[in-house]
Amino acid sequence: ATPMAIAVSTGVAAKNGVLVRNGEALERLSAVTHVVLDKTGTLTEGRMRVTEVRGEAGRETVLQAAAAVERHFSHPLALAICATVEAEGLAFPVCHQPVLLPGLGVGGMPAGGEGQIWVGNLRLMERQGVMIDASMRAAAEAIESTMAAAVFVAQGEQLLGLLRVEDRLREGAVELIRTLAQRGVGMTLLTGDSVAAANHLKQALMGPEDVRMEVVAGVLPEEKARKVAALQQQGEHVLMAGDGVNDAPALALADISMAMGNGTDVSMECSDIVLMGSDLQKVPWAIALGRQTLKTVR
Ligand code: ADP
Ligand code: MG
Repeated sequence: ATPMAIAVSTGVAAKNGVLVRNGEALERLSAVTHVVLDKTGTLTEGRMRVTEVRGEAGRETVLQAAAAVERHFSHPLALAICATVEAEGLAFPVCHQPVLLPGLGVGGMPAGGEGQIWVGNLRLMERQGVMIDASMRAAAEAIESTMAAAVFVAQGEQLLGLLRVEDRLREGAVELIRTLAQRGVGMTLLTGDSVAAANHLKQALMGPEDVRMEVVAGVLPEEKARKVAALQQQGEHVLMAGDGVNDAPALALADISMAMGNGTDVSMECSDIVLMGSDLQKVPWAIALGRQTLKTVR
């Protein structure tokens, strides 16, 4: 495309809340054959709410232990947990050496030094040697078969409790899937969440229709990147849409990377395109714009 055509389209895109950070990206958009979609914060709003607290340690203890660590982070789960503790007027205990284990959860050392606090999914708990009995496992599975995340809270190897944190489908998500399918664009749902959670989301997206969407769940950031590479080796031109730190390696590898405007700074800085606002229909819209931009010179 001519520099003029690219400049015009970049302007049109910006007016529609699609920030194209380099002109070449517009041209590459026209070649996209496969869209890889992150789950939390991309297909879902990522504005989560804690709606249930379980555990023998008691509601306040569980919430406060979690918040002590989560106040150092900006993941949608972290924001939800901190908002609840604040809303209930509870104090945030001090916690040192916060660590993020991408795709697993977070940890930190409480000021009292009674043992490291861990907040995250079942895989994190297993990694830290936290014992989870059958009833807690079943409770977590039940939570993840709805539009919610199950978040375990532990101290040392002792489980303190389990949180249900609810999310919602993002505006335009159902239409996004339908539009991409109609245009013959392949789709992969790629998530660090559990298989159960991913399948529930897929069901919510599809409705009764039979749309083909591959689900790859329970993956770590490097595995997300490997999935993108595998698609490329099959000859696909991959657009990846994501929102978080854990998406950065995959975003970097994709032919086109698209970050959600509400995402982390990392994902926005390393992306070709930033989607402002929340409407996912802008994804196929941008692909169409890219095709149109190329056509104007032919
Ligand atoms: P997705 O790939 O769907 O965007 P993430 O990679 O953001 O999901 O998260 C993957 C998993 O890692 C989540 O299911 C969650 O259990 C865990 N996780 C990530 N960040 C946190 C956090 N700050 N607190 C608790 N759990 C977290
Ligand atoms: Mg995400």
